[in-house]
Amino acid sequence: MNPTLAGFLYLVAAVAFILGIKRLASPATARSGNQFASAGMLLAVVVTLVDRQIVGYGAITAGMVVGAGIGAYLARSVEMTAMPQLVAAFNGFGGGSSALVALAELTNGTGLASRTLVTIAISIFIGSLTLAGSFIAFGKLQGIIDGRSITTPGQRILDPVFAVAALAAAVAIVVSDATYTGWILAAFAAVLGVTRTLPIGGADMPVVISFLNSASGVAAAAAGFVIESNALIISGALVGASGLILTNIMVKAMNRTLGAVLFSAFGASADISLGADSEDRVARRGSPEDVAVTLAFAKRVVIVPGYGLAVAQAQHTIRELATLLEGRGVEVRYAIHPVAGRMPGHMNVLLAEADVPYDLLFDLEDINPDFPSTDVSLVVGANDVVNPLARTDSTSPIYGMPILDVDRSNLVVVVKRSLSPGYAGIDNPLFYEDNTLMLFADAKKGLSEVVSAVKEL
Ligand code: NDP
Repeated sequence: MNPTLAGFLYLVAAVAFILGIKRLASPATARSGNQFASAGMLLAVVVTLVDRQIVGYGAITAGMVVGAGIGAYLARSVEMTAMPQLVAAFNGFGGGSSALVALAELTNGTGLASRTLVTIAISIFIGSLTLAGSFIAFGKLQGIIDGRSITTPGQRILDPVFAVAALAAAVAIVVSDATYTGWILAAFAAVLGVTRTLPIGGADMPVVISFLNSASGVAAAAAGFVIESNALIISGALVGASGLILTNIMVKAMNRTLGAVLFSAFGASADISLGADSEDRVARRGSPEDVAVTLAFAKRVVIVPGYGLAVAQAQHTIRELATLLEGRGVEVRYAIHPVAGRMPGHMNVLLAEADVPYDLLFDLEDINPDFPSTDVSLVVGANDVVNPLARTDSTSPIYGMPILDVDRSNLVVVVKRSLSPGYAGIDNPLFYEDNTLMLFADAKKGLSEVVSAVKEL
């Protein structure tokens, strides 16, 4: 292929990546953003294969058909709640590919420049660590490996030893240019990926996955320098930077630090600590009919979705209820907490699936001032994101996390199956407040009964 044409097509691919990421910033344009980015990646891959004459057109077509088939199958079959582990697997493969590209270059190249050898070492180290770490994360989220923190005796001593050994192997690559040093580095990096991910509790895994996603981008950018591919450098840098920004947003919204997530074992055991006085306090229980009357005769209702909405797959039912209420003249809006659910944008995706209009979705800082003038806050399968202890109890693990101030509305209706805690494993005093009504039910079943009751009013 003409080098100018190849360069131009890589540039088109890079622009498609950038536009894709830009469009992912809003639910309204996210779908087309995804299409832009995947079209850019397809273009970059095909140009590389043709330009470097790696395989013929027959193999390219066969690869596209098989790849598209697997992609379509995964997109249709993987449950929304299993998305984090799917992303973990993707990150792992991304990191592994970058490490393999660098290892291949080390094996085939002769008299490589020191600059190239340094990038080869970086790519092998980060790529292998990402591969191993991501598959441990996958195993934890999928329930194949125990989701709690797994620590081994002597780890505090062994981890630094592995890190020093990896560094020594990296130096050996640059000094000797020998292939076997690359494999030694890959092995130590993989061991570190395993030993650093095992102690992290399953509940912190989404943050780790986002971080590993960023790492896979850095590994890809390093591999791009190794094989002098601008498209790989640009796409790797975009993944690296956006993954880091996302990680930062998540740890901030959870009132944690990245260091605490990576080097402590919070969320590991999720010990269930019911507040001292919870046993003495009684939660007010309501029936679907009670809830229907309360909602139907309200003026302003705010719906707060949480993880339980995703588990119950109740997004269509909540939309049906909202439409019924709107038909009766009730103003219905949705309050979205940045870490509701188990992955960033979880609630946005769920509600988009049920065709809830985007302009009815409000971020925490925009909706919080409106709770005092809200008649009913309908909390569906959410717990931590509405826990007032975050404002008042400095000993609580969620202290300082911004919450949705539903307790300041006139009445709160909470739909969940029991008084069990959520991710943080702590009791929620909201459930025992005088202005709270509990509807103990699976979200889908409970809301369906509320819908039927509203229809009969
Ligand atoms: P929580 O995890 O606090 O609570 C979810 C609640 O849903 C549970 O208390 C459970 O109660 C209820 N539930 C479960 N299944 C059902 C069902 N079928 N029907 C009705 N209710 C159900 O969820 P939140 O969304 O409020 O908070 C998210 C938490 O996850 C935060 O602590 C956040 O920090 C954390 N997190 C979020 C990430 C993200 O990216 N979004 C990433 C990592 C962690 P019951 O069993 O009684 O029904």
